[in-house]
This record gives sequence, structure tokens and C-alpha cells, in this order.
Amino acid sequence: MSDARAVVISGPSGVGKSTLIDALLRTPGVRLAVSTTTREPRGGEVDGVDYHFVPRETFEAMRNNGELIEWAEVHGHLYGTPKNELGGGAADVVILDIDVQGWRSVKALGIDALGVFIAPPSVEELERRLRERSSETEQSIEIRLKGAASELAAQKEYDHVVVNDDVGQSSKELCGLVLRTPQGNGA
Ligand code: ADP
Ligand code: 5GP
Repeated sequence: MSDARAVVISGPSGVGKSTLIDALLRTPGVRLAVSTTTREPRGGEVDGVDYHFVPRETFEAMRNNGELIEWAEVHGHLYGTPKNELGGGAADVVILDIDVQGWRSVKALGIDALGVFIAPPSVEELERRLRERSSETEQSIEIRLKGAASELAAQKEYDHVVVNDDVGQSSKELCGLVLRTPQGNGA
């Protein structure tokens, strides 16, 4: 493990995590821990950059060989953080874009990480964003909206909550938290 600071970012699907993280990644010294997943790539997603896209058998082998720090089934697909992604290399901050189950695992493992929850201004706006992204089938949108309620209920488990209303404002707020806040207090 490196000295890089781990920052966990969670929030319901469609809230704008990737958008805000893309902005964060323009800061030198900030790196994304690339997760492994069994879901299919969306248009524009690049293997090894957005995710390591693998067949289910490969994911299960990685999990069984102890190669994942944590893993979870989210919206019917498997997602996990490979151990070798937490090593910071030259990075000062490593971002983990993981769900609430993942955040709970990170805390249970005693990993010193700051937790930031991204919340939508309203559930209606969350649905609008999910639909506007045009990346999901109707069934997948419904599964994601259903999951949003329990994700939103867990926001109090995080160190900070950023309401992603205006993207420029939220981005500034998140950058401030990620770049300046000392180690998470595990609250
Ligand atoms: P997530 O990674 O949380 O699933 P995305 O970053 O893919 O969400 O964002 C979902 C959609 O919402 C995208 O089309 C994105 O451009 C849009 N979006 C993100 N943030 C905002 C915002 N603050 N206001 C309006 N639309 C936004
Ligand atoms: P998406 O399919 O929209 O990219 O991601 C769906 C959900 O899976 C999001 O909540 C995202 O944070 C979560 N996720 C992505 N990678 C991981 C991971 O490695 N572990 C866990 N626990 N969740 C992840």
C-alpha cells in the first residue's frame, strides 16, 4: 500500500459521479482506482481506463484468489476494486468510485479513507439525468432508480455530502474536499 490518500465517492447511478470525477482527474496527483466489472462497456467507455471489463468467470477467479480489496453486486453486475489499484504510485490521492456496500467494506477493513456522497437535487432530476445519458435500457433505468432510495438513505454514513445541482459549483466543492481535507475520520 502507498502513502496516497484514498477518497471514496459514492452516490446513486446518474447523479453525476463520473462527471465530477473526470474533473477531479485533471488535477495532477489525482488518480482513479480502476474497478473490475462484469457489466458491458457503455459507448465511449475504454477498457482499463473506465473499468477493467471482464467475463464473470474472470471476476470470480480474481475474487477467489484474493485479488480484490472489496467487491459487490450492484444492479445485477459484479464490481470490485483490485488490490493493485490502491497503490498510489506517484499519486497523492486515489479516488474509488464505489457503491455504499463498497464504502462499508472499506471502513470494515480499517482502510483510512475519506468518504464523500454525491446526492441529487431531487429524485426527479436523478431520473432525468439517467434518461438523458441514454446509456441504459428501460429495465436498467428502473433497477437503478429502485436502488437509489437505499443508496440515498446511507448518505449519513459518509464524511461529507455534496449535492450535485450546478456542476461547476459541485466540482469546486468536491475538489476542495478531496485536495484539502486531511485523512477521513471514519465517521
Ligand atoms: P454517474 O457516474 O453518477 O452514474 P454521470 O456522471 O454519468 O453519473 O452523469 C449522468 C448524466 O447527468 C450525464 O448525462 C451527465 O452529463 C449529467 N450530469 C452530471 N452532473 C450534472 C449536473 N450537475 N446537472 C445536470 N446534468 C448533470
Ligand atoms: P455504473 O454501472 O453506473 O458504472 O456503476 C454502478 C455502481 O457500481 C455505482 O454505484 C458505482 O459506484 C459502483 N461501483 C463501481 N465500481 C465499484 C467497485 O469496484 N466496487 C463497488 N462496491 N462498487 C462499484
